[in-house]
Amino acid sequence: MKYETVIGLEVHAQMSTDTKIFCGCSTKFGSEPNTQTCPVCIGMPGVLPVLNRKALEFAVKTGLATNCKFSLYSRFARKNYFYPDLPKGYQISQYELPICEHGYLEIIVDGNTKKIGITRIHMEEDAGKNIHEGGGSFSFVDLNRAGVPLMEIVSEPDIRSPREAVEYMRKLRTILRYLAVCDGNMEQGSLRCDANISVRPAGQKEFGTRAEVKNINSFRFVEKALDYEIKRQIKVLDDGRKIIQETRLWDSSRGITESMRGKEEAHDYRYFPEPDLVPIIVDQKWIDGTKTSLPELPDIKRERFVSEYGLPESDADLLVSEKPLADWFEEGVKLGGEPKVIANWMKGDLLRLLNEDNKSIEECPLEPKQLVDMLKLIDKGTISGKIAKTVFEEMYKRTPKNITVKADLPGFEVTAELIVKEKGLVQISDTGEIEKIVDEVITKNPKEVERFKAGEEKIIGFFVGQVMKLTKGKANPQMANELLKQKLSA
Ligand SMILES: [Zn+2]
Repeated sequence: MKYETVIGLEVHAQMSTDTKIFCGCSTKFGSEPNTQTCPVCIGMPGVLPVLNRKALEFAVKTGLATNCKFSLYSRFARKNYFYPDLPKGYQISQYELPICEHGYLEIIVDGNTKKIGITRIHMEEDAGKNIHEGGGSFSFVDLNRAGVPLMEIVSEPDIRSPREAVEYMRKLRTILRYLAVCDGNMEQGSLRCDANISVRPAGQKEFGTRAEVKNINSFRFVEKALDYEIKRQIKVLDDGRKIIQETRLWDSSRGITESMRGKEEAHDYRYFPEPDLVPIIVDQKWIDGTKTSLPELPDIKRERFVSEYGLPESDADLLVSEKPLADWFEEGVKLGGEPKVIANWMKGDLLRLLNEDNKSIEECPLEPKQLVDMLKLIDKGTISGKIAKTVFEEMYKRTPKNITVKADLPGFEVTAELIVKEKGLVQISDTGEIEKIVDEVITKNPKEVERFKAGEEKIIGFFVGQVMKLTKGKANPQMANELLKQKLSA
């Protein structure tokens, strides 16, 4: 039987506020356990939480960027459950009145645009972290993370394949990073994803019974975990058994999902309105004002890159995937670089070097100006495109890293011109000099000369290659090509 997959994602995004959602404790990652806590976030009796205004603003920005409708009146609720990392015995979350609802975002898969609905976005606090080490009959609890603001972004069950799920996650991450409301770091847990998955016979309208898979913490695992779970469910159905509604845990080391517990229903959490926090009443004017402060979002930027700079869609897609990448590109264009040429250098050499270095574009030592100046040397004929690759790499490797105020450090600047001079890479465009080498190459390769004369014109490439080899890539290739043609045809 043919099956169709139905997937909905619940993404938890840690908001990049400086302080926690209901107290003034720092949200910094990686500090000593329990050094960023206070009576509010460790749940002492008698304390009162106060909402962090920034967290509300971040949730509103995310709702605006994902086409959501706003609840001008919303409130928090207590979600009750017992777990050692939850000091109060309940989590402050939002339940029946979330801040945002009914939005969508668009993904592109195989060139087709698809809308994925967003059911709701709500704010909540994170729990602490249990640490099981030391081998004793006890565990540790670190409450630094307790009270860190989260957004839960719940999608509609509109996703039909693991690839669509990955694209949705990527798109969401890009938007969150554009808005600077979440750093999107999956390794550090700032972006986590739970997936609801079911399969149904193709053509059937009703959804199948779903399983929730938790603990998916990288893009690679989104695809792997979903692939595994889909195959598992299809096998269960093909064997004539029934899918059980349950929560399953993704085990990345073994590449499988495992049953963790029966799926809870909402009533298991005994939700009720949080009595210690006042309702949130949002002013429409404030939402409108926030809207005008949003940066240009990736979809609009991509369209503009295509229409304004004439870039192919695939280039535009790549460049807008990270805002700093798009900014780097546009700065280069402003400095007079040809858009497509800059895009090519970024796609090829720049991203390759950053990748080898395990660096993001934000940590890129090179400035767009260094590339643009090098491109001018190519245009002037000082260096060939081939030599430029060497120059670019050298420039990348030698430019000091982690210098923020470069203007304060005179003499630091590693320019293409400097490298060309130092390494003697200036292109040989002197006819006499190239002619000597061309003659040498012709004398040394009589067999190839015969083949050329017999009509095998393509072999000219071999001769050009020999000239480039002897000059270590410095000969002007067009000149070498023309001289060779003249001499061989003579
Ligand atoms: Zn605190």
